[in-house]
Amino acid sequence: MAHEKLNVVGIPIDNLKREKFLNLVYQELEQKQKNIFIVTANPEIIMNAKKSSSYREALLQADFIIPDGTGIIKASNILGHPLQEKITGYDLVHTFLSYASENRKSVYFYGAKEGIAVEAITKAKELYPNLQVAGTKNGYAGLGKEVAEEIASAKPDFVFVGLGAPLQEKWIASYRHLFPHSVLMGVGGSFDVLSGNVKRAPQFWLNRNLEWFHRLITQPTRGKRMLKLPMFVAEVYKQKLKTRNPR
Ligand code: UDP
Repeated sequence: MAHEKLNVVGIPIDNLKREKFLNLVYQELEQKQKNIFIVTANPEIIMNAKKSSSYREALLQADFIIPDGTGIIKASNILGHPLQEKITGYDLVHTFLSYASENRKSVYFYGAKEGIAVEAITKAKELYPNLQVAGTKNGYAGLGKEVAEEIASAKPDFVFVGLGAPLQEKWIASYRHLFPHSVLMGVGGSFDVLSGNVKRAPQFWLNRNLEWFHRLITQPTRGKRMLKLPMFVAEVYKQKLKTRNPR
């Protein structure tokens, strides 16, 4: 599965067209030879990995690290190696749900507060009627081996883990061995959005790549997390300078 990667602040991001990426995932899923761990990287995830080597190790176990959002694409432009395409995590969840519905694959929703994953599955079944539900579990009832084994016993084809970063990627890295043929992916707050409990930014903001700004004004408690964005930009410029003047 060798394809071009771009190092962005120490994390190798896959440089793939969306279609090509999807084909690779579906191929692996159908062949049932191994499991597939997908990370949807954004500046916050990359800055977390810079701070924590155990988190970085977890990310480096992934089969695919895809650029989720404009931040990473802009970074690739600054670094002089533009990535081919942004692959948004939330859109990817919908793409996989649609594929699962059409190809009789089962899905498990793990994460978010009590009741949310169930509401999200109900909504998903409305949108994708042939979806096979392997199960749901809220993200506050333990994160350990027992929970992982319970989820694995449902033998889901897709495991969507909505525990937020860094928990979700650490969880997948720790327990992926229990899921020999599954696609496992961290989906952050996607269940909150899919269930309708959190509104995604209106198209106006999405079109202008300002989803982050909409989030900041609608959920001001996220402000501190967003400070990582300017820090990320500074790191990207540092990397650019270093590659220009290698020592
Ligand atoms: N969450 C969870 N268990 C925890 C901590 C968080 O299930 O121990 C859930 C939380 O309820 C939310 C998601 O993880 O649904 C994190 O969402 P956030 O919006 O922070 O993620 P983002 O979309 O920004 O990556």
